[in-house]
Amino acid sequence: MELEGHIALVTGGGQGIGKAISLTLAKYGADMILFELNSEKAEEVSKDIYSLGRKALSVKVDVSKTEEVEDGFRKAIESFGRIDILVNNAGITKDALIVRMKDEDWDKVIEVNLKGAFLCTRSAVKTMSKQRYGRIINISSVVAFMGNPGQVNYVASKAGIVGLTKTVAKEYAARGITVNAIAPGFIQTSMTDALPEQVKDVMLKEIPLGKFGSPDDVANVVRFLALKDSGYITGQVIHVNGGMYM
Ligand code: NAP
Repeated sequence: MELEGHIALVTGGGQGIGKAISLTLAKYGADMILFELNSEKAEEVSKDIYSLGRKALSVKVDVSKTEEVEDGFRKAIESFGRIDILVNNAGITKDALIVRMKDEDWDKVIEVNLKGAFLCTRSAVKTMSKQRYGRIINISSVVAFMGNPGQVNYVASKAGIVGLTKTVAKEYAARGITVNAIAPGFIQTSMTDALPEQVKDVMLKEIPLGKFGSPDDVANVVRFLALKDSGYITGQVIHVNGGMYM
């Protein structure tokens, strides 16, 4: 129970990688706040968290909306009094080659993936700096380092996450807040289930460990970075990709 007494907030915690992160942090003792668009899914995860013996609060928040994020943080603080861990996980894709990409698809992906992380981080550091303690973990992607045809909006958002991570790490190091990113490779969730089989076959051949990752592969690294004992790591990107990028 290395995270007992810690309060953790996960965005997009209702499914996929966010769900695995929420359950893992709860299993190790954290009480959880979930920001999620779909309240039904978040309620289901909250029930699982209660059955692990931890508290859970799910709040319907669109992370790209300033007022919703600020209101969500107010509710979180009213319920728990502090926030020790923030995981900026919520993310979407709207893929197209650049010549066919619509303005609204560029804007939407940047707003959810990058502005969402900015808004949640801005609210979190206010509380964490008063506490003089915090762990912020941002979910980037391997494509931020490799590029990926058809995903110029998504790749730009995930590369932006890396810049945000390093900058906030420098701004808040003196306040005891560490800020790191995880860059997952191909992880089996609904986001990747949507890809055509032949694309998946090509990707599998690029992975030295010979298999796709699971949400728990990412969640276990989040848990590690969230520990008090990981406090000498900041401004870093940890790659979780079975060796496909090295
Ligand atoms: P997923 O299954 O699609 O889950 C994404 C979650 O984010 C969903 O619960 C979704 O809620 C939520 N969400 C979307 N827009 C939101 C918004 N505006 N406000 C609040 N929540 C929102 O995707 P995943 O594969 O678990 O991905 C999780 C993160 O890992 C993403 O940032 C993704 O870019 C990153 N990642 C994934 C992979 C991979 O291979 N799967 C690889 C690298 C990085 P709804 O379902 O209600 O819309």
